[in-house]
Order: sequence, then structure tokens, then C-alpha cells
Amino acid sequence: MLKVNIVYIGLGSNLNQPIEQIKRALQTLQIISDSILKQQSSLYQTAPLGSQNQPDYINAVAMLVTKLNPLDLLDELQKIELQHGRVRTQEKWEARSLDLDILLYNNDLMQHPQLILPHPGLYLRSFVLIPLYECNPNLILPNGKTIFELTQVCSSKGIKKILTL
Ligand code: ATP
Ligand code: CA
Ligand code: CA
Repeated sequence: MLKVNIVYIGLGSNLNQPIEQIKRALQTLQIISDSILKQQSSLYQTAPLGSQNQPDYINAVAMLVTKLNPLDLLDELQKIELQHGRVRTQEKWEARSLDLDILLYNNDLMQHPQLILPHPGLYLRSFVLIPLYECNPNLILPNGKTIFELTQVCSSKGIKKILTL
């Protein structure tokens, strides 16, 4: 029997009707093989990282239980990004139709050329921490801190809850 794993996925979009992109991606997350979507946060409008010369993002977080291993899950998520017309170029944090990051996979730590766990931006990004708190206010992160503590010290500037599904 394969172990069931708890994962949190960060969703982001700032191109081609971002709200619709995120809604559709949440539906697609419901049909990933060997996985069940358990929780989803509200949708948040947030200021972009990197170039400010791009539209605001819509962000959300989803919690899944999955029997997929981390790299197979990443594969599934990248297929969904492509289905949403994601185009990858060399520029970092450029505008995109859909970005799906694995924020947490249980409390596992991983340093693989394709996958770093937890996601390196997790502890620093309010647009991730705030929706993560909404999915599980009792969460304890791999560094031993509670999600509550982290949301208390992060800035909610530039982050606006816009839609609860
Ligand atoms: P950031 O990772 O800072 O949020 P980004 O999401 O814009 O930036 P991408 O261009 O989407 O970065 O991803 C680049 C690569 O990051 C992916 O091809 C993937 O192999 C790798 N990666 C490493 N760790 C993770 C993770 N936890 N979740 C998703 N991708 C990851
Ligand atoms: Ca990202
Ligand atoms: Ca990404």
C-alpha cells in the first residue's frame, strides 16, 4: 500500500483572465490521479514579484492528499501549467497564465535539481502564507514555526481577498 501524503500547492496567475485560470486549475486539481483535493483557500489579488510592469496576480493555495511521489506530482502540475498555455522563457517571475508550486510535501526536505522542498519562497511570501493559513490554521512548518506565527510577522500590504469559492 502506498503512503498517503499531505501536500500544499500554491497557485498563481496574472495573464489571460487570471480568476478563471485559478478556478479552472482548482477544478483540474480535483482529478489528478491518486490524489484528492481536500481544501482550497479564497482567491487573493496580490502585487507581482520581479518586474512591477505586469498585472497583479491572483493567488490561492490548495491542500491535496496524494499517493504520488513528489517528482510525479511536479510532473502532473507542470502538465496542467502547459494545458493553461504557460510559456517558459529565461526571465524570472515574468507574467504567466498559471504557476503551480509545491509548497509542502508532508514536512519533507528535498534538494533535487527539479524540486526543492519546502518551496524556497514559502517562509517569505505573504501571498502564500496568508492563503496557507486559511487552508490549515493549525499547520506547523518544517522549520518548527506555526503558520499563525508566520502570518503575524508577514506584511499583508498589497494582498486583498477577492473571492471565496
Ligand atoms: P519561484 O520558484 O521563485 O516561485 P517560479 O515559480 O516563477 O519562481 P518556475 O519558472 O515556475 O519558477 O519554475 C522553475 C523550476 O523550479 C521548475 O521547472 C521546477 O523544476 C523548479 N522547482 C523547484 N522547487 C519547486 C517546487 N517546490 N515547486 C515547483 N517547482 C519547483
Ligand atoms: Ca512560483
Ligand atoms: Ca513555479
